[in-house]
This record gives sequence, structure tokens and C-alpha cells, in this order.
Amino acid sequence: MPALPDAPPELVLTRDEPLARHTYMRLGGPAAYFAEPDTIEELRRLAEWARSVNLPLRVLGGGSNVLIADEGIEAVVLSLRRACGDTTFQGTRVTVGAGVMLPAFARAAAAHNLGGLEFAIGIPGTVGGALQSNAGISDRREIGPLVDSVELLRASEVITLSRTELRFDYRTSNLRGSGDIVLEATLALESRPREECEAEMKRLLEARQATQPTAERNAGSIFRNPDGDAAGRLIEAAGCKGLSVGGAQISELHANFIVHDGSATAADIAALMLEVQRRVLDAASVRLTPEVEWWGDGEPPAVFRGDA
Ligand SMILES: Cc1cc2nc3c(=O)[nH]c(=O)nc-3n(C[C@H](O)[C@H](O)[C@H](O)COP(=O)(O)OP(=O)(O)OC[C@H]3O[C@@H](n4cnc5c(N)ncnc54)[C@H](O)[C@@H]3O)c2cc1C
Repeated sequence: MPALPDAPPELVLTRDEPLARHTYMRLGGPAAYFAEPDTIEELRRLAEWARSVNLPLRVLGGGSNVLIADEGIEAVVLSLRRACGDTTFQGTRVTVGAGVMLPAFARAAAAHNLGGLEFAIGIPGTVGGALQSNAGISDRREIGPLVDSVELLRASEVITLSRTELRFDYRTSNLRGSGDIVLEATLALESRPREECEAEMKRLLEARQATQPTAERNAGSIFRNPDGDAAGRLIEAAGCKGLSVGGAQISELHANFIVHDGSATAADIAALMLEVQRRVLDAASVRLTPEVEWWGDGEPPAVFRGDA
């Protein structure tokens, strides 16, 4: 295997950064290169260097919807926490950086007497991650309908996509897999008294705590809901609650959640997902599709290949 290139000294990059430090599940091997640029200009230079040495570039947001190989990845992994961490309120319009965490954003909006984002209070991802997956909760309360425009880095150019150029659907958008890096978005919110926003967020958090294993390490919903059904219902009906592989277990509280005790590996999670996928296919003739995204070099584990 060819040696990995040295990064130019003017770029601030960490070698072999353990990505477990940056993911919600605290799992994942090292990234060959990791950087948290301070500015968009630095980000652009990092992207140009990655392209020039043929290394894949990946943006890690809150790391709440990715499962990263235990062996790590040969890629340049970027966090936009610093370069895209600002929020600017102008009346009911808000421009928010892709690196801002959704719960903090929802709270800041409420403090400005702005509603519409309450649904985001329990979603532990960034604005950038939320935009590409159209993050939301039931009743189609999602980020997509609030978005006026999105600014992104495409190759070396900063461009703006207007509302009409954006498409949002159930847990996806035309930003997903595009190779573009989302820098910021402008959202249209609605005037709503702070107390009302905060009361609703409290109610939503309490509902989440009652139905989801919020106190344990978990990866949110592991499988997408198939049309007209709920993945959790199918997994429970297939008798998978409590099923475990290594340190990973299907939650007793909500069957579409995998929890782990700190000893699990990404391979355990992938193997458990595959077993669940097999059992649901046997029991209900439905092939569940992973909601979480796999990051790894080479062939992905069977459950992520769609041919298991
Ligand atoms: C406990 C828990 C509860 C959850 N509840 C919900 C829920 O109610 N609703 C819901 O929709 N989701 C939920 N999720 C899933 C997850 O939080 C969302 O999908 C979230 O939007 C992911 O954002 P992230 O920043 O963590 O993305 P990451 O996991 O870091 O990345 C996901 C993908 O987005 C890409 N990405 C991230 N930032 C950018 C960017 N700036 N530009 C381009 N691409 C980018 C990454 O490269 C990757 O492909 C939950 C997860 C957990 C762990």
C-alpha cells in the first residue's frame, strides 16, 4: 500500500485522530487526517489539498448518524465547528452555520422569541448534518420546510442554492451524497413567545425520555421506517428486543435503537444490525434499510451493502 502523503506545513492537520472522540456513540477508528479549520478559506485550502493527493474528504458533524469502521478511514475528515459556528438573527430570518448543534440552535431561536425549531431539541446533530438528512420528528416536522437558502462549497467555489433548487424528502435531500460541503443556511422562522417555545421543547424532551434509551450510548434510529410502517414495530415483532452481539444490544425500550455498554465495537453494531435485518426479512418479508451511514475503506459490512 502506498505511503500516505505529508500534509503541507501551512495546513493544520492531525494525523490518526481517533474518531470515537467525535461520534455520538463513541465508536470508530482513526482518521488518517483530521482538521478543524478556523475559516472558510482554510477549509477551501484543505479541500484543495485532499483533491490534489486523491484523498476522500468527509465532513463530520455531530457524528450522530455515522458508524465508522474500527480500523479507521484513509480520508481527510473535517469538523466545521469553528469555521461555521455562527448564528445571526434578523427578524424572523436566521442565518446559521453548518457546525452549530441543533439543540443549541433551537434554544437560541426560542430566546429570540422564534418558533418552528422546537422539534430539533432532542436531535444531537449539527445543522449541516440535519440539512443533508432533512432531520425531523413525526408529523413531518423537519428542517427542510424552514429553509430559504443554503450556502455551500462546491469544489473550490462558494455557491448559494435557493429554496427552488433544494429538495427535501423523508430523511434525505438533494444535498446528500452530492460531495458539496454545506457552510450555512438561512431559515424562515415564526414569531412565538419564548415561554411557549421552551414549554414545547420540554414536552418533546420528556416524551423522548419516556420512549427512547436516552441515558445510554446509542445511535438514534438504526433503520429507516419502511413505507407505511415503523422499523421499531417490525423489529420488536420479529422478537429482536434484547438481542445482542458483543457489547451491543437492541434496546429493551425502543427496538429501533441499539445501545452499548462501552465495550462494543463498530463491527458488533454492524453484525447486530445484519441479524436484525435477517430476522425482520424472515418474519415480515421486509428488508430494512440502515438509517445510519457507514464510513470505512473497502467493502462495507453486509448490512450496508443491500445484498445481504
Ligand atoms: C440519540 C439520537 C437521536 C436522534 N434523533 C433523531 C430524530 O429525532 N430525527 C432525525 O432526523 N434524526 C435523529 N437522529 C439522527 C441524527 O442526529 C441526525 O441524522 C442528524 O441530522 C445528523 O447530524 P450530524 O451532524 O450528527 O451528522 P453526522 O452523523 O456527523 O454526519 C451524517 C452525514 O452528514 C454529512 N454532513 C455533516 N455535516 C455536513 C456538512 N456541513 N456538509 C455536508 N455534509 C455534511 C456527513 O458527511 C455524513 O455523510 C438521532 C441520533 C441520535 C444519536
